[in-house]
Amino acid sequence: MPEFPEVPMNLVKPKEPVIGKVVGSETCLKGGRKSAGFVRHVAIDVSGTPLEGQLYPGQSFGIVPPGEDENGKPHKVRLYSLASPSWGEDGEGKVISTTPKRVIDEFTSQKDGDDESCHELFLGVCSNYICDAKVGDEVQVCGPNGKRFLLPVDRNAHDYVFMATGTGIAPFRSMCMELFDHPDGPTSSQVHLVMGSPYESDLLYDDLFRGYAEKHDNFHYHTAISRGANKQYVHGLVESQWEDVFNPVLSSERGLLYMCGLIGMQFGVYQLLGERGLSDDYMEIKDELQGVPVSDWDRETMRRYIRPSERMMVEVY
Ligand code: NAP
Repeated sequence: MPEFPEVPMNLVKPKEPVIGKVVGSETCLKGGRKSAGFVRHVAIDVSGTPLEGQLYPGQSFGIVPPGEDENGKPHKVRLYSLASPSWGEDGEGKVISTTPKRVIDEFTSQKDGDDESCHELFLGVCSNYICDAKVGDEVQVCGPNGKRFLLPVDRNAHDYVFMATGTGIAPFRSMCMELFDHPDGPTSSQVHLVMGSPYESDLLYDDLFRGYAEKHDNFHYHTAISRGANKQYVHGLVESQWEDVFNPVLSSERGLLYMCGLIGMQFGVYQLLGERGLSDDYMEIKDELQGVPVSDWDRETMRRYIRPSERMMVEVY
């Protein structure tokens, strides 16, 4: 079984955030962008704060947007996945980064009392705040958060399958940098990254991952494009290359599976693991679902009766 490290948590509380400074903000999308989303790579200098050097791949940090919500209360903290390795963007742990996507939507009622007929433009408060932020702007930050979605203590003792959709790639940028650019040298483990995007132009950090694939024989980059000529989701791609590529890694005792992004991906992967006889390795299935054929699993039963085992790390929304 994998051994995971103890990592610092909540060194800075959301109620008493510290000040970081935006030192970089660039689009994560390629030219010829087709989809309606806007994703940026934002770097924040936290030097001199308790966060300096204290964030690890798979963790997140908080951003507290300025201003008040509709009830006149200060805005609550929002969590963003760390996209940088433990030594930061700068090599010294002073600059952390993340991958925010602007939330731009039509208002839909969320709770009792909301106006059901309202369909005005809705702009996510914190995502647009942080995407608008310019180099030199100060932002209120806190954290770190998260102690389960981590790389193991001995990074060479395991092989990895990372599955991402959209901005769920952020922790895998962080983890791949940690594994391949580590001061002790690149990992000897097999690493498969599967990235799902609507179009090629939404493949976030694509150049970085193509670079790793060119440089390291043990890094394998797979892309599932859902709105291209050959429409594919992440779990569909994994299924299509099961025997030759994914089964050898996942059915080995060294295999660890990480998933981050949209919740739909999780259900597809659960069913695939169930169909291929790997339920016991990656999932804890409660009694209610034991003996039920995988073909009869639906989203509700999977949500209620399946939990990831120690070998599967899941962060999906
Ligand atoms: P997106 O670009 O809209 O979608 C990414 C890809 O996922 C698209 O190709 C999409 O296909 C596909 N997809 C849609 N439904 C799917 C399903 N049922 N199974 C498999 N693939 C499916 O993604 P996004 O807007 O960036 O959203 C990323 C999500 O990750 C957000 O919910 C965000 O909250 C979450 N996230 C979580 C963390 C974390 O927990 N630490 C960090 C970062 C992001 P089509 O749209 O073409 O159908």
